[in-house]
Amino acid sequence: MLDKIKGGLFGLAIGDAMGATTEFMNAMEIQIKYGKVTNIIGGGWLNLPLGEVTDDTAMTVAVAKGVIKNKENPISEIGEEFLKWYAANPPDVGNIIRTVLSLYDGNWFAAAAQACQNLGGRCAGNGSLMRCLPIALAYADQNKMEEVTYLHSKMTHDDDEAAEACLIYNRIALRVLNGESLYAAIENEITGTIYEAILKHKPDCPPSGYVVHTMNWVLHWLLRYDSFEDVVIGAVNMGGDSDTIAAIAGG
Ligand SMILES: [Mg+2]
Repeated sequence: MLDKIKGGLFGLAIGDAMGATTEFMNAMEIQIKYGKVTNIIGGGWLNLPLGEVTDDTAMTVAVAKGVIKNKENPISEIGEEFLKWYAANPPDVGNIIRTVLSLYDGNWFAAAAQACQNLGGRCAGNGSLMRCLPIALAYADQNKMEEVTYLHSKMTHDDDEAAEACLIYNRIALRVLNGESLYAAIENEITGTIYEAILKHKPDCPPSGYVVHTMNWVLHWLLRYDSFEDVVIGAVNMGGDSDTIAAIAGG
């Protein structure tokens, strides 16, 4: 179990570090510039030092620390960790997160609602999905895991699509932790949801930061390939929001 938990966190960080090289490029541009990215080489629009990670891993670690500090009700502890990270002036804060963190005045859910309004209702980003994995790793009780997963998404993303994607992802992770195969876990959790078509078809959406697009591509790579390596390399070389898609799939 400890191996699986560590594997999830390292897998996420590796996907993030590799995907940062190709973030915001398209598949054609990646092919011209790199051929195929198959290793952690740094660079990208952040000019990332070799082996460094981005906001996806930083915020995942923040969630993990918050959960460790207060397992019963971790929302304010998670929020404190977000603020600590933000105070260090990271170069790559997502739009929704930046808006929420700058509006926060003691109530996360109010800040999230206001941010969504300020952004014209466009707050279904993948910024809560990219950091939710530690919750599935921390709570063996499914109901508690789902409650914390949901609240942790709503504290920055006042959006049901974002919360639903976190719930589906963490339910899949919990099944895998409990020994189910990844394919069966995905099939069980996406049947009857808006993601069901991915079992049969390749996504017809861009690999964007919109959480539904991101989730479709994450599921696509996980269903298509058996090895961790192939999943992450697939996501990295598709471009778009590649660090986040590779991080989520890698986790
Ligand atoms: Mg990132």
